[in-house]
Amino acid sequence: MTTPRVVVIGGGITGLSLAFTLQESARRLGAPLALTVVDAAPRVGGHAWTTRANGFLIEAGPNGFLNREPHTLALVEALELGARLVEARPEAKRRFIVRDGRLCQVPDGPATLLTTPALSWRGKLRLMGEPFAAGPPAGVEETIHAFATRRIGAEAAEMLVDAAVSGISAGDSRRLSVGAQFPLMTDMERDHGSLVRAMFARRRQGTGPSKLLSFDQGMGTLVGALADRLGNAVQPDSPVLAIERTGDTWRVTMSGSRTLEADHVVVAASARAAAPMVGVLDGRLAAALDRFEYAGLTVVALGYRATDLPRALDGYGYLVTRPEGLASLGVVWESSLFPGRAPEGAALLRVMMGGSRRPEVVKASDEQKVTLAQAELARVMGIEAMPRHVSVFTWPGAIAQYTVGHFQRRADVMDRLGRHPGLWMCGTSYDGVSFNHAVKSGRLTAHRLADRLWGDRRPVDGATEVESASDRWEVETSGPNGAPGRPARSDPPSPRAAAGA
Ligand SMILES: Cc1cc2nc3c(=O)[nH]c(=O)nc-3n(C[C@H](O)[C@H](O)[C@H](O)COP(=O)(O)OP(=O)(O)OC[C@H]3O[C@@H](n4cnc5c(N)ncnc54)[C@H](O)[C@@H]3O)c2cc1C
Repeated sequence: MTTPRVVVIGGGITGLSLAFTLQESARRLGAPLALTVVDAAPRVGGHAWTTRANGFLIEAGPNGFLNREPHTLALVEALELGARLVEARPEAKRRFIVRDGRLCQVPDGPATLLTTPALSWRGKLRLMGEPFAAGPPAGVEETIHAFATRRIGAEAAEMLVDAAVSGISAGDSRRLSVGAQFPLMTDMERDHGSLVRAMFARRRQGTGPSKLLSFDQGMGTLVGALADRLGNAVQPDSPVLAIERTGDTWRVTMSGSRTLEADHVVVAASARAAAPMVGVLDGRLAAALDRFEYAGLTVVALGYRATDLPRALDGYGYLVTRPEGLASLGVVWESSLFPGRAPEGAALLRVMMGGSRRPEVVKASDEQKVTLAQAELARVMGIEAMPRHVSVFTWPGAIAQYTVGHFQRRADVMDRLGRHPGLWMCGTSYDGVSFNHAVKSGRLTAHRLADRLWGDRRPVDGATEVESASDRWEVETSGPNGAPGRPARSDPPSPRAAAGA
């Protein structure tokens, strides 16, 4: 039996989930597999990175995931990490927006809708008229903003939805495609004629609100467990420069003229990172990959003495509405969410800055970012004290932007990939931007690759059962800023981000 050689490019959560799932399939089958995961960075995990400093446990990227995605939960189980899961405190359900310079609670039911200053009475009445809103325009790929304006009115679209979109994807609701970014919404409208009716129907079916989860030692727990199980297969400090084909074999060239030969190559890095790798192989594929857009994000984490904060951190945090003109998209009250994020008597806040709203902020110096973050915390929350701790993380291409035309751009990539048997692409550039989507994309690609390698011999594991049980694609809505959870939905079977052979 020949040993199939598989190279996974990108050791973020997509690539690690993929590699581990494939390795598990081989192990259960007793099949040989030569697996390598290469990553440009000195550590794996990509955006999923937990750091510790001065007693604070700080997430540089995602701080949690919703419990609605079976693929992530199956991965947690396979790694025996169930006992390490922690659930966000119930107060975290309370979320705020900044409107007219003050914090207003986001309505989460009829009682808070009546009392919140987040919307005017006119805005509230229009929102309550959602069941009677006009249906979708025929033949148009609507933006999120247009969809929300049509269904819940201009004010709620601006104050609640646009702010939430900034929180989830660091993007602009006027440019993002509702079908690509929030397919659940278009599904709910199609199936029930109204989002409100759809929510009641979901409740009747027992689909309650999702829970936000993390691990006792943060999201790095999952990354660390995956890296441990993959052992020497993981090669950090290995930036890939080119992917080429010589005869039946793929050749992956890294910096320092190092090369790897493979039967299958999976690019689990972003489309933007993939484009230069395939420039020589297929200029049209490179051009198609280059058409994907990204928004950058800066995270400024600030640790304070709890007594230095003028208000209780009694919720998840807040999102900033566009008219406020701030550089912050939102602030997550980290130490209120999960235990162990700050030492006794201290509090940890993460200010998320930049996005497509204020791209110049991501390019500023760390010093400028900290000054800006502190000034905006003073303005919104009245925090004048100096922080005990500050960390800055900058992610220039943080989140893929599914702007109008996303489905066509994705189809163009798939079309070109069909010409290159053995070359696969997956990850959050294509089928959903959240942590859960990344895990799902990695695992589904591993299943397809296992089918290709071992066909009927592939053992049925928990993951396979998950896949067949849910052929609909759930949309994760726990965004980088912890935007208000939005009801989720599914979309049509993907034109397979992972094309492969
Ligand atoms: C600040 C921030 C906060 C977020 N918060 C949340 C949240 O709370 N909840 C949530 O669900 N999602 C959140 N997200 C999104 C979530 O982090 C992503 O969905 C997920 O981590 C993406 O994982 P990935 O593996 O697809 O990509 P990445 O994490 O980007 O990993 C890609 C990997 O590819 C590597 N790579 C790139 N180029 C090359 C090359 N040439 N050669 C080799 N390797 C290469 C990179 O080094 C990287 O390790 C957040 C994102 C950010 C940036």
